[in-house]
Amino acid sequence: MLSKLIPSKVNIWLNNAQTYIYPHTCFLCDQPSSTSMDLCTTCLNDFHSIDQRCTYCDIELSGVSLVTTNLVCGRCLKTTPYYDKIRTLYRYSDATRFLIQSLKFNAKHSCARTIGTLMARHFSHLNEKPDALIAVPLHPKRLIERGFNQSDLIAQYIQQTLDVPMISHQLQRVTNTVSQSTLKAPERRKNLTNAFRYELLKTYPSIAVIDDVVTTGSTANEIAKTLKKAGVKRVEIWAFARA
Ligand SMILES: [Zn+2]
Ligand SMILES: [Zn+2]
Repeated sequence: MLSKLIPSKVNIWLNNAQTYIYPHTCFLCDQPSSTSMDLCTTCLNDFHSIDQRCTYCDIELSGVSLVTTNLVCGRCLKTTPYYDKIRTLYRYSDATRFLIQSLKFNAKHSCARTIGTLMARHFSHLNEKPDALIAVPLHPKRLIERGFNQSDLIAQYIQQTLDVPMISHQLQRVTNTVSQSTLKAPERRKNLTNAFRYELLKTYPSIAVIDDVVTTGSTANEIAKTLKKAGVKRVEIWAFARA
């Protein structure tokens, strides 16, 4: 919504201005950070990636002794998701949760810079870039309450690094769903049915959807379903953390 109204060059200018408004201090230990982020190298080591993960939904698979690729979890074996792949950087741990919640609930926008920078670095190493990015939308009512969409802030850093168009305004949340965190898995899926409307202004063969954290994957799947129905061939979900 807002990204439609604010020209991208202004967005970039605002992002650069953040560097001056929010100097680099580690958000975890409060010490000056020598990295280009608000996270020192010592605390960055507290972020752990997932060792064995599902090929599709990226969920951690425990008890797998073989080091192998193409592992698939029981849920994805039973029902193939609409998305082609979820890619996440880290486990949803105390450190990653603190970073995400500081951004979302305390409006600490410097956390978007840290999350966005880490994600941009990670995804710039992929062999193939998507044709466009979409930030997971908030319902307009929730956007007004919060004042910003955290996924949109994060996505701007990835967009700048990868240099692909951001078309978030083409995906609109038309139902103001009850907060997913208060619901159980079956209720989450029901809650999300028809929650997104995709207005296809231009066709893109592949789209990466940017989110802060993936929990059940229900939101990711519902968005992917909407995009695929609109003719998008490949949909990946890129998130900072996987619960
Ligand atoms: Zn630190
Ligand atoms: Zn899976």
